[in-house]
Amino acid sequence: MTKLANKEEELRKIKEEVINLKNSPLYEYRTKNKFYPVIGEGNHEAKIMFIGEAPGKNEALTGRPFCGAAGKFLDELLKSININRSDVYITNIVKDRPPENRDPFPEEISIYGPFLDRQIELIKPEVLVALGRFSMKYLMEKFGLTEKLDLISRLHGRSFEVTAPYGKIYLFISYHPATALYDSSARETILKDFKNLKALIKN
Ligand code: URA
Repeated sequence: MTKLANKEEELRKIKEEVINLKNSPLYEYRTKNKFYPVIGEGNHEAKIMFIGEAPGKNEALTGRPFCGAAGKFLDELLKSININRSDVYITNIVKDRPPENRDPFPEEISIYGPFLDRQIELIKPEVLVALGRFSMKYLMEKFGLTEKLDLISRLHGRSFEVTAPYGKIYLFISYHPATALYDSSARETILKDFKNLKALIKN
């Protein structure tokens, strides 16, 4: 099998496994409500991967990440730094919608985290963008930055060089785009932070 065919096969396997993840505490909620899991979408050769928290209602109804109000702002953010959504890969840590959009529980992050780890290792992005505090915490811990973990209000807009199994990459920290929906000053902050992301990509 070619390398590319193998990658596609492994990504398909991840999708199948998540669809059949009966031991997830969110499985019953998904099936009862006829929701879809949200695996991720975008370019499998992406240099940048965006990682949110968990699907909201729109996402669970369509199976697509960031397709609701927060997604609209993410689109705007991408546009502001001249990035096409079709060139990046977008996913979440937790692949199923938590009831009433509550914060994901630690055991949910533990169950779904390994799927994200596999997606990262297959797509091999050069820059990972943590969208929000859950993604920030998961990725900073994963890459040995536990001691540098802090409030997202202190780390947003910053990047860290980290070592992935396939080489050195950057981890960029951003507020979650949904933050801008109920705090207009956050909107400007995130737009400004994304300029740092743009500078990082140029390097
Ligand atoms: N919020 C997230 O964290 N992810 C989505 O896909 C949508 C909203």
